[in-house]
Formats: sequence, C-alpha cells, structure tokens
Amino acid sequence: MKEFDYICIGGGSGGIASANRAAKHGKNVALIEGGPIGGTCVNVGCVPKKAMWHGAQVAEMLSHYAPDYGFDLTVNKFSWPTLVANREAYIDRVHSSYDRVLGNNGITRIEGHARFVDDHTIEVNGERYTSKHINIAVGGYPSWPDIEGAEHGIDSDGFFELSQQPKSVAVVGAGYIAVELAGMLHALGSETHLLIRHHAPLRHFDSIIHSKLVEFINEDGPTLHDHTNVEKVEKLSSGELKLTLKDGSTLKVEKLIWAIGRTPNTEKLGLENTGIKVNDKGYIEVDKYQTTSVDGVYAVGDVTGQAELTPVAIKAGRLLSERLFNHQTDAHMDYGQIPTVVFSHPPIGTVGLSEEEAKEKFGDDNIKVYTSTFAAMFSALTRNRQSTHMKLVCAGKEEKVVGLHGIGFGMDEILQGFAVAMKMGATKADFDSCVAIHPTSAEELVTMT
Ligand code: FAD
Ligand code: NDP
Repeated sequence: MKEFDYICIGGGSGGIASANRAAKHGKNVALIEGGPIGGTCVNVGCVPKKAMWHGAQVAEMLSHYAPDYGFDLTVNKFSWPTLVANREAYIDRVHSSYDRVLGNNGITRIEGHARFVDDHTIEVNGERYTSKHINIAVGGYPSWPDIEGAEHGIDSDGFFELSQQPKSVAVVGAGYIAVELAGMLHALGSETHLLIRHHAPLRHFDSIIHSKLVEFINEDGPTLHDHTNVEKVEKLSSGELKLTLKDGSTLKVEKLIWAIGRTPNTEKLGLENTGIKVNDKGYIEVDKYQTTSVDGVYAVGDVTGQAELTPVAIKAGRLLSERLFNHQTDAHMDYGQIPTVVFSHPPIGTVGLSEEEAKEKFGDDNIKVYTSTFAAMFSALTRNRQSTHMKLVCAGKEEKVVGLHGIGFGMDEILQGFAVAMKMGATKADFDSCVAIHPTSAEELVTMT
C-alpha cells in the first residue's frame, strides 16, 4: 500500500488549493480526481458561467446601449457555437495551467474514483493508498426533482453541453444558478421562463435584492412564473417539452433546466466503512478546523455544505494545509461576512447580514439602514435607463456596517473592496470619511445620508 504525507480526494477548487499549499511546505502529496481537473468551478461552474454572462453582457450592450451612444449597428447573427468554442478553449488553457502548477509542485496525480476502505485507507482502481492526513474535497452535483418526466430536462451540467442555442427554455429554481442561467439565456435571445415556488427568487437575500430583482425581471424579462411548481413533463412528438404546472396550465419549451440546488458527492465514497459522519442531507460534518468525526480526516468545500463558493473552498483548503504542515496551529476558515455576487442582470453584490437578519440579531432599535437608488450614469443617457439600488445595514451606536447589499451596474466589481473594510470592522463614519470617486456608482456607498 502506497503512503503519502497528505492525500486530497477531489481535484476541484478546495482539493487543488490544499494540495498545492501542502506541497509548498515540502510534503509528499497525492491528489485523486475522478473527472477533469478543476472540478465544478472550472468545468461546469464559475468559469463557463462567467463566459456566458460576458456574452450576455455584450448582447445587452449592443441592443440596449450602443445605439444611444451613437453606434448605428447591424448585428447579423449571434453564434452560440462560437461563444461555446471560445469558452471551451479558455477552459483548456486553465486545465493546462493547473496541470503545470501541480506538476511543478511535485504532486502525484491519481486518476479515478476514490473510495474509503477504512478510516485511513483509500482504494482507487483496485490500488490502495494511505496517509495520516486525508482531505475530502469531493464537491457535489445538481439535484433533480422526483416528478413524472423529470428526465426530459437537463441540469446546469447539461446547460454547458448545449451545442446550439435553445429557442425556448424553462428554468426551474430560485437560487443563484436559476437566476444566472435564466438571465443569460434571455439576454442572448432565447425565449426564457423562470419558474419559482414562492414570490421571488433569492428570497433569503436582503429584501432590497429580491424585491428589485423581481422588478427588473418583470420590466425586461425573462418571464417570471411565481408561486408555481412543475408537476409533470412530457416529450411531444415534435421534440418539444410540455410542462404541466401546479394550476393545471401548460407551458411548451424546447429545453427544461432544473436548477433546484445541489447534492454532496458522498454516497459512493465508502463512508459506511469509516467513522466519518454526514448530516441528514449527506454533507460531511466538520468542526471549525475542518476535521471530521475521524481524527486526521478533514473535509473542505461544497461537500461540507458551508457557503458553497469557490473562494471559500480554496481558503478552507489552504488554511487547513497551513495548520497541518506549517505550524499555524489555530489557522481556520472564518465563515462570517463572505462577500458573494450573483451574476444576474444587473448583477447583485452582497456581504454580511440582511436587514432582516441584523434586526433579529441586534434588535430593531439598534439597526440603522441607509439606502440609495439612482440611475447608473452609463445607462442614464440612453433610453434604457437602469436603476441601481444599494443598502447599508449598520448596527449599534457606532453604526458598524454589518451588511452591504446592491443590485445594479458594476455591483460585481464594487463589492470586494468594501468587503475588506467591513472585515476590518468599518463604521458608517469610516465609510463617510473616505473621499468619493466621481463619477462612479461605488461613490454612493460613501455618501449615503
Ligand atoms: P468541486 O469543485 O465540485 O470539486 C470536487 C471534485 O471532486 C470534482 O472534480 C469531482 O470530479 C471530484 N470527485 C468527486 N468524488 C470523487 C471521488 N470519490 N474520487 C475522486 N474525485 C472525486 N462559486 C463561486 O464562487 N462563484 C461563481 O460564480 C460560481 N458559479 C457557479 C456556477 C455553477 C453553474 C455552479 C454549479 C457552481 C458555481 N459556483 C460558483 C460554486 C463553485 O463551483 C463551488 O463552490 C466550488 O467548485 C466547490 O469546490 P469544491 O472543491 O468543494 O468541489
Ligand atoms: P441554491 O441552493 O442556491 O438554490 C436552489 C433554490 O431552488 C432553493 O433555494 C429553492 O428556493 C429552489 N428549489 C429547491 N427545490 C426546488 C424544487 N423542487 N422545485 C423548485 N424550486 C426548488 O442552489 P443552486 O443550485 O442555485 O446553487 C447551488 C450553490 O452553488 C449556490 O447556493 C451557491 O453557493 C453556488 N453558486 C454560486 C454562484 C455564484 O457565486 N455566483 C453561482 C452559482 C452557484 P425556494 O425555496 O425559494 O423555492
């Protein structure tokens, strides 16, 4: 049986980051991956998604804004295959860069599906491996509903396999993925329907976010079907899909995308042969140091179900290696105040507590909220004026900024710096003491009254 100083199972965001950091500290590391290197983010997540979003941004620039900036354009056609080909070529380059870095760090790559045989023994393709330290970073996969005909749909992985643009699409779900995919398909010209169970997508975000998102969607599309559920899916002889909704009405579309959440990759990991505990949803339980219920076995990233975001998996993975292999005995991930962006149309940026959460935590009287609504200048001189909405949630007499939320042009790029300030404990007075940058959208956050 081959022994390593450290084994990472899963070559996605968390596994790669942790393996590389351990190797930098001189450890003999193995990385086991059952699919393409890079995991969800690189192959079927952040990277291809952002490429499609950029494509959608170009489409919006051409249709909504270019004419009023004086451009007399004729767009002959949009080629989905060209965008997909360029996206995949970019991903190939990311693969090469990952291969190079892992190779330079001397990491042993094991290709195949890992399965625990006991607490510290892993089997891959009949070979056995062991280590004092094992990190499980196996991520998750899209969840599917249990309804008649569900198999006629696709999930977000299937979306990235589409070689042609669908003429019409129904996207079911109310989270990040549903909002992002529906927004880009609509902007790129597919007739798009977004089907949600409740009143708004992203209903757990601050109220300014989901209420304004609904307004944007109602003004510009896609078509929102709220308070609905798909009860049955049939494939017609024409190839179209017929969806029967909760109220008995039907909807015909070329493609149906399920975007209703994700499930951790723990069923086929052989955890039943170990003492590693999972919760009722299959996520691996860890303490603040990412340690599972078995000593020397850790888990990071989506498989733990904590803030399923790439930078979170990366940070948790790196900090784990710092703790294990670089004497940083207390290094651990801080899951508070994680900034996050939804690449919707327009984008959403949010960090910290929603107004509702802050009131719950500190009491209504201890919370002061500042808001600002304005037309982003880029759009203001066109006939497609687009409003931006921002909110600061401040707590206590010192008005510490505990929540920052915005939807509008540039929110995706504005957020990061403000998240640093909040992490440092900035107050509203600190925000106001900073000189504004004019004319920008970001300046609103330091000039709110
Ligand atoms: P993964 O990246 O999923 O990696 C797990 C790896 O483990 C996979 O490669 C898998 O093949 C491998 N594996 C599984 N089981 C085994 C086994 N038994 N043996 C060996 N290998 C195994 N996050 C953001 O921050 N920003 C975004 O814009 C964003 N967009 C997203 C868009 C979509 C459509 C999706 C689906 C996700 C998006 N995310 C985004 C989330 C992000 O992709 C994940 O949070 C991140 O990839 C989690 O990293 P991970 O290392 O935990 O798991
Ligand atoms: P989410 O968990 O974010 O959202 C799924 C939503 O779908 C649920 O909240 C629920 O909303 C709704 N839903 C659940 N079951 C059903 C059902 N049976 N029928 C209809 N609707 C249902 O999952 P996603 O798949 O969107 O994304 C997974 C995670 O990936 C995200 O949470 C995020 O962490 C990450 N991600 C990050 C991105 C980014 O950083 N930009 C982009 C994409 C993903 P409700 O209860 O309101 O109906």
